[in-house]
Amino acid sequence: MLVYKFGGTSVGSVINMNHVKDIISKPGKKFVVLSAMSGTTNTLVEISENLFKGETEVAERSITQLRDHYFSVAQDLYKSEDSVASAKAYIDYHVTNLFELTQKAYSEIIHNQIVAKGELLSTFLFTNLLLEEGFKAHCIPALEFMRTTANHEPDNFYIKQNLNRLMDALPETDIFITQGFICLNAQGHTSNLNRGGSDYTATIIGAALNAEEVQIWTDIDGFHNNDPRFVNNTKALSHLSYDEAAELAYFGAKVLHPQTVLPVRDLDIPLRLKNTMAPEAHGTLITNEIHGEGIKAIAAKDGITAIKIKSVRMLLAHGFLKKVFEVFERYETSIDMITTSEIAVSVTIDNNTHLDAICSDLREFATVDVDDYMSIVCLVGHQIIYHADTPQLFQILQDVNVRMISYGGSNNNISLLVNTSDKLETLQKLQRYIFESQPALSAFHLN
Ligand code: ADP
Ligand code: ASP
Ligand code: MG
Repeated sequence: MLVYKFGGTSVGSVINMNHVKDIISKPGKKFVVLSAMSGTTNTLVEISENLFKGETEVAERSITQLRDHYFSVAQDLYKSEDSVASAKAYIDYHVTNLFELTQKAYSEIIHNQIVAKGELLSTFLFTNLLLEEGFKAHCIPALEFMRTTANHEPDNFYIKQNLNRLMDALPETDIFITQGFICLNAQGHTSNLNRGGSDYTATIIGAALNAEEVQIWTDIDGFHNNDPRFVNNTKALSHLSYDEAAELAYFGAKVLHPQTVLPVRDLDIPLRLKNTMAPEAHGTLITNEIHGEGIKAIAAKDGITAIKIKSVRMLLAHGFLKKVFEVFERYETSIDMITTSEIAVSVTIDNNTHLDAICSDLREFATVDVDDYMSIVCLVGHQIIYHADTPQLFQILQDVNVRMISYGGSNNNISLLVNTSDKLETLQKLQRYIFESQPALSAFHLN
């Protein structure tokens, strides 16, 4: 069984939905995970934010625009008037529900119900396109099998049991379709796997079905060696290892949701990135195998806060780090980067929810300085810290204002902490330095 995931742009128009149909039309049973049409989840988040602010009329106007947009998609997508009518009835059902939600007291549950609508709409529209064209397709609702635990981890046992039960009841089906992103939480309420979560849905399903391969189809020809939104001349990588891809995704490469790699890495299921708009391009194959040495790719993660914690005693007394970590543990806040000196330790966090409480607890035994609007720029490649040319990289420090460096925490990762305002320049300089003027530093197997 192959698991396919198509992202927002891939299902973002009638033309692209037809490309997707062509890609999955080869014989054989398959599982297809879809995101919302591009722009829809953003619109739904805005609707929810407007309700939170009490701007009900603004939210209602957006709901009406959303309905008009989906009506016109339905009109263009199908050949038969019956299909158009049934799609419009489905859209109306969800639009009516959205209007009902605007009248209720705002809560996280309401927010999650609003943002779930995009995937419900895209999967309905696409399943009916396949049915109209004679495919044996069936949409299995994600909310009937995708569930997370109290720790916000996928409930793998529950998912596997229910997914198999639902699929076994449909022996005639060739193409199973489901919604990415959405799930039930441990309390049984509609929830989600965070923005970009459809990638994660696909690998969770891939693991549950022990799939032959999971393919993430998107709007770019694979995993690039730098962020193409900020840097010119980036190139697709033909291969990455699970560990390299996991580090890059965790440190901000938007092309994969941060947790995507984990379910398939454990089972050694290949993960392939492909371009819906250019299916013939090689894309990127992510497996256990190592291809190439040196720095393979650069990614950046924003929204980082650095906290410098200085011991009030002259020297770092033993037990100091333990006390520091206990504070972060108490507030369930994980640390990304850490550097130490004789009297101080600096850490970074990407979740500020408990920042004030953390700082106040730390101040009981240390002085604390906080810098926000920071970004982690992360360089990744197999065993890069041992690569003979890597030290040359530090020449870049002459040009870039770096607040912290983490070297050697993992053999595959060097991280630099910079002000977010310097991120663009840092990414561009690193691109030129590593991939253009110092080819010895970069991995040799770029496409
Ligand atoms: P989808 O809706 O298909 O999930 P996303 O927008 O989430 O698509 O991810 C694809 C986008 O990720 C690309 O269009 C590109 O702008 C961005 N991106 C950021 N870093 C990378 C990278 N290293 N390689 C490829 N794309 C990247
Ligand atoms: N539609 C969701 C989002 O925009 C999930 C996804 O696209 O993967 O975040
Ligand atoms: Mg995505």
